[in-house]
Amino acid sequence: MSDCIFCRIVKGEIPAAKVYEDEQMLAFKDIRPIAPVHVLVIPKRHIESLATVGEEDAALLGHLFASIGKIAAEQGATDGFRTIINSGRVGGQEVYHLHAHIIGGGAPLPAMI
Ligand code: 5GP
Ligand code: ZN
Repeated sequence: MSDCIFCRIVKGEIPAAKVYEDEQMLAFKDIRPIAPVHVLVIPKRHIESLATVGEEDAALLGHLFASIGKIAAEQGATDGFRTIINSGRVGGQEVYHLHAHIIGGGAPLPAMI
């Protein structure tokens, strides 16, 4: 997806403050952080959103989720964090490349549900 901003970050065409990278996934700081720790975790392969995830993505997403706790702790969210995945228009998704927000490092966040 040449016009996808997160694919362009993966390719190195747009700079990002990377905090973790391996063959399958990338984590980088959100450009508009809402907390002391605000990191986006993405699969390198373009997947639009949770709405389009299929069984063929299970191993990749399992790996991504298994990495979130370590990334959060390394970034300083040692006392808990919130993980948010916005999906589609109603879900408030702005960038249509699947990403998990890791938010923490500050005061306890207000309950959402
Ligand atoms: P969404 O609403 O899609 O879940 O959130 C997209 C997030 O991507 C927003 O928090 C926004 O600040 C972040 N973002 C958008 N463009 C860029 C960018 O070019 N670089 C980085 N690091 N973050 C971005
Ligand atoms: Zn993409």
